[in-house]
Parts: sequence; structure tokens; C-alpha cells
Amino acid sequence: MINKFQKIHHAGIDCFIREIASSDRRILITAGLHGDEGSIIPLLEDFLFEFEGISDSIVFIPRMSPSALRSGRRLNDSGHDSNRLFGRKQDDPEHNGVVETIDQHAPYDLVVSFHEDVDYPETYVYDTGRQLPLSKVIDWRYEVQQLGIPLLNGLDDPNDPELQHVFVDGYNHISHPGRDGQLETWIVLSGLTPQSLTIEIPSSLTSEQKTELIWITFQKLIF
Ligand SMILES: [Zn+2]
Repeated sequence: MINKFQKIHHAGIDCFIREIASSDRRILITAGLHGDEGSIIPLLEDFLFEFEGISDSIVFIPRMSPSALRSGRRLNDSGHDSNRLFGRKQDDPEHNGVVETIDQHAPYDLVVSFHEDVDYPETYVYDTGRQLPLSKVIDWRYEVQQLGIPLLNGLDDPNDPELQHVFVDGYNHISHPGRDGQLETWIVLSGLTPQSLTIEIPSSLTSEQKTELIWITFQKLIF
């Protein structure tokens, strides 16, 4: 396991790198920004470390907020929501370590951030910056529905004034992102990538369903 990936530890953050000299694309994949969304991390590790069909160079940071994951809470040890700090001046050593790690390996052709929705049973994808081809979204929707997993229609979070994006069949495109402290908007606005995808996996799914959803998402939207 992990034989093709090189592990780098910098400023408290683990980063796994797989460089393919002949590849056209370099993809940053992240998870674990919120400490109550850690159940998908071993499933992502299983996929990335064992799936044979990856031809892209990969930079993988599975635990973006190690302190929040240790406590199992949304906020990190500095009391911050780790996905509201990007591009905002904050005294937060863990966040600084994440930004340094991301900067060290930039730029990226695509950035993918995995989250879990702890409330909703539906899955959904934020597409920020350059837009996915509609054919990929249609294929992804079809495969998700074949699994029996519902797609979100309506608002992501009616109670969070920094969210409130409207989803149609599990998809929302943000062409002009604002500076809201989120990884997906900051990384596009700062020019480190032209496109960022945020994947929301329902926490309530079984481990098998999460695994299948992760595989479909990689094969239909990412690779
Ligand atoms: Zn989250």
C-alpha cells in the first residue's frame, strides 16, 4: 500500500504525492477540513492508493485539519472552521501549514475537496471556476441514481449566510466565486488552479455506498 505515493510531512500536515512524468494533469485532492467528516478518509485512501487506472499526477492531503479530526468536531483546535480561513488573515498554525503545503506543490489543473453532509441524505457537487462539460455531469447523475443515492435539489444550507447555493439535481456551478474563506473559491481566485470541485458525500450512507459514490465520482467527474 502507498507504494506509488511518496509521503511528505510538513508543518503538521501529511501530503501524499504521486508524480507521473508523462501525465498531462496534476490534481490536488483534499479531505478532512471538518473534523466531523472523517468517515470518508480511509475510503479515499483505499481508492487512491489501490486503484490502478490513474494516469494523472496526484497531490493528496487527506487530513486538512488534523486537530478537528482528532476531536471529531467541525472546528479546529484554534476554534476556527477550517474552510472559512482561506485568503483571510488568521492566527492559525494548522491553516498556515495547509496553505504552505498546497503552495509547495502548485499549480494544479484541478482541485477536488471531499466533504460529508452530516444532515442531508442527498449528494451534491460544487463546480467552481472553469465548468465541467455537461456530459460528465449527466453521466455522474445517472450513475448516482443507479446506486439509489438521491441528488440534492434546492439550497445547500439555508442557515449559513456564506452558502445558500441552489442545486439542481446535485450540481451547482459558481462562475464568479466570492472571497468567502473557502478552499474552493480561494484556490481559484488565487490562480493556483482554473477549476475546483467540492464533493459532498452524505454521512448517513453505508460504508459500501460511500465507497461506490467515491468511485463513480472519480471516474465520471475527476479522471
Ligand atoms: Zn465540510
